[in-house]
Amino acid sequence: MLLVEDDDAIADGILDALRHAGFEGVRVNTGAAGLAVVAEGGADLVLLDLGLPDLDGVEVCRRIRADSSVPVIVVSARNEEFHRVLALEVGADDFLVKPFGFRELTARVRAVARRSSQPDAAAAAATARTFGPLTVDVRARRVMLADVEVHLTAKEFELLDYLTADPGAVLRRPDILRDVWGVAWYGTTKTLDAHVAAIRKKLGDPSWIEAVRGVGFRFEVPEVSRGDAESPLRGEGPG
Ligand code: CA
Repeated sequence: MLLVEDDDAIADGILDALRHAGFEGVRVNTGAAGLAVVAEGGADLVLLDLGLPDLDGVEVCRRIRADSSVPVIVVSARNEEFHRVLALEVGADDFLVKPFGFRELTARVRAVARRSSQPDAAAAAATARTFGPLTVDVRARRVMLADVEVHLTAKEFELLDYLTADPGAVLRRPDILRDVWGVAWYGTTKTLDAHVAAIRKKLGDPSWIEAVRGVGFRFEVPEVSRGDAESPLRGEGPG
């Protein structure tokens, strides 16, 4: 974790809070020093102040993004929508407005760290998940149903990837929106419903994604797709 912040008091507070949450941090005072650490591969996550003495934080973020996919959380006293949008446009993963509570800070850091670690975890583990006739190949970003490819949009795939990562678990709406759409998401949960509906339609059976009223959604293998092997009616012998 790299903190790029020129204000000593704020930097100390942030590092303290992160240490309590189990994150080790390195701090630099300038944008140039921050870029140097990132270039050396010395950061797994960057907390970036916008108001720096040498470079504008937005420019620092833009330069980080030019050759690194390290997650960046912009920390700023500038609450203007303009700066928020600008930071996200140049590739920041999240935006935190000063003053913020340390609980909010650590929650955001955890969420961004979790999102960014998903591809690695998926690559390390089996890259394809199979549920009856359905295969979700996370690495190739392909979905096959009974050997026929199902064409999903990027967001539909990310949502299905998220739901199938923990089959059977009830996933809460706000958690899904936060993890799949990002905390910078200002839309409504109708977007989530629309994506669920689209996936269900493409999978040809709504019961793959079960709605849990008032809570969220759960990925389940439909009864009819579980395979004949589990059916007790199968194999009645002669006589
Ligand atoms: Ca500053």
